[in-house]
Amino acid sequence: MTARVLDELPPALANADNLPSVPGVAVEVLRLSKDENAGIDEFANAIARDPALAAKLLKLSNSSLFSLSQDVATLNQATMILGLKSVQLMSLSFSLTNSVPRDGGADGFQFSEYWRRSLVGSVAGRSFCRLLGLEKEDEAFMCGLLAHFGQLVMVQCMSDEYAEVLETAEGWPDRTDEQRLLGFDHGVIGGTLFRSWDLPEIICSVVSHMHDPAGLPEDTDEDIRALCNAMHMATLTEKILCNEKKGEPMRELREISREQGIPEDQLDDILIGLEVGIREAAELLDLEIEPDTDYTAIVNEARSQVVNISLGTAATLQKTERRAHNLEIEKRQLATEATTDKLTGIANRAGFDATLEKEVVDRIELTVPNALGLLMIDVDKFKNFNDSYGHRAGDRVLKIVGNVLKKMTRDTDQPARYGGEEFAVIVPQTTPTALKTYAERIRETIASVPLPIDDDTVVNITVSIGGALLVKAAEVGDSDALVELADQHLYKCKEGGRNCTRIADQVLKY
Ligand code: GH3
Ligand code: MG
Ligand code: MG
Repeated sequence: MTARVLDELPPALANADNLPSVPGVAVEVLRLSKDENAGIDEFANAIARDPALAAKLLKLSNSSLFSLSQDVATLNQATMILGLKSVQLMSLSFSLTNSVPRDGGADGFQFSEYWRRSLVGSVAGRSFCRLLGLEKEDEAFMCGLLAHFGQLVMVQCMSDEYAEVLETAEGWPDRTDEQRLLGFDHGVIGGTLFRSWDLPEIICSVVSHMHDPAGLPEDTDEDIRALCNAMHMATLTEKILCNEKKGEPMRELREISREQGIPEDQLDDILIGLEVGIREAAELLDLEIEPDTDYTAIVNEARSQVVNISLGTAATLQKTERRAHNLEIEKRQLATEATTDKLTGIANRAGFDATLEKEVVDRIELTVPNALGLLMIDVDKFKNFNDSYGHRAGDRVLKIVGNVLKKMTRDTDQPARYGGEEFAVIVPQTTPTALKTYAERIRETIASVPLPIDDDTVVNITVSIGGALLVKAAEVGDSDALVELADQHLYKCKEGGRNCTRIADQVLKY
């Protein structure tokens, strides 16, 4: 069993000859915990062989971590009051971690830091179990104490590879740093090793997955899943209290807590309140921890970092929105460019077609009280003008016509360059008389614009305008008839001598 489980470790570790082994007392505790006939006495005897461990267990029983109402004087008493399982788990926690150095260490891996994190995790784990009504506080304590064991194993058994992880990690390495460089993380290493030691499955599974409860196999026992979730909260707490960057874990812990119905204030109080338990646990484990750590200040710092993250997110969001907005503008600009005539700045043929189609469609679906009017405007004798004064002067004429139309149309009207020297105006709400008046005004205005050719020559140009109206359409294609009718009247102007306007008497109705 042991060998097979160890095979699951990465080769660098599976073949290492210096993997930590289970201390004698722990072996005995484990054996007794699996022996259904073993009673409290046998267990107490086994512990008593390690007086230091026995003393720790008694101290622990009387600590606020258990908040018992009576003093516990003997191991038998402790076992009776706390339960055999609880004391077994605690003694395992202590004996398994007993050999881990209390201080010293290599660059980036200080044992004091290892312990600080383990303590925070174990005490926070207990707190969250209690808060969530999960009767797995001892398992939580043990998982917390063993959470970083896999890192210890890697520091010891694959020091070169792990040195690189320590070097590249920003602060204390976490599973993502390890996975990036090694392809596995300390949770899995610890869990696999503990399984080879025959530790309870709940401990092995939770140590493997407490950083990522979502990674638990689907058929995982509900108890294991619940403890894993509570220990995930403990992991985040460890990051909040020990990492420089506290904002992201704080944000995540708040989110999970909110889902569990724990308000932010209560969460803050829980975090601050961990101090007492951490101090007690440190004492039990003969650990020195910084005496002047201000938990309130730490939690306040975490809170302000969350605000900064939110602001950062808001800024990113704003940036994204701005980009989307710019894209929208760009899209609109492109669409506008596609429908705008470069020379005159008014709509081109595509723009004209689109507007006319929309107006005609409106008149298929409903009856619009006033008719849709269309004016077709053509510059008179423009070929002659080009021939006499040149193409560039001709372009100036087209610009002038475009400008006049722009100025003389209302917002609802659409002037357009239909093509060449032909222009058009779509007038969505008009009557034959109004359209006639309007056409006349346009014609007169254009005719009145003086066009200087050179110092000695000023000419005037004229246009002919044909118009038609449509009051009801049956299909989109009815726009053709409207254009044609307006064109016919424009042709009549040309036949009639130019510089005049003709509007069709008949209002089209389909
Ligand atoms: P009519 O009074 O019968 O309309 O005579 P016209 O000379 O205006 O008619 P025609 O259709 O014979 O000639 C149109 C001229 O318009 C031909 C072409 O040189 C000129 N034209 C078309 N597009 C442009 C343009 O973009 N710039 C310039 N300068 N001239 C153009
Ligand atoms: Mg023409
Ligand atoms: Mg012409």
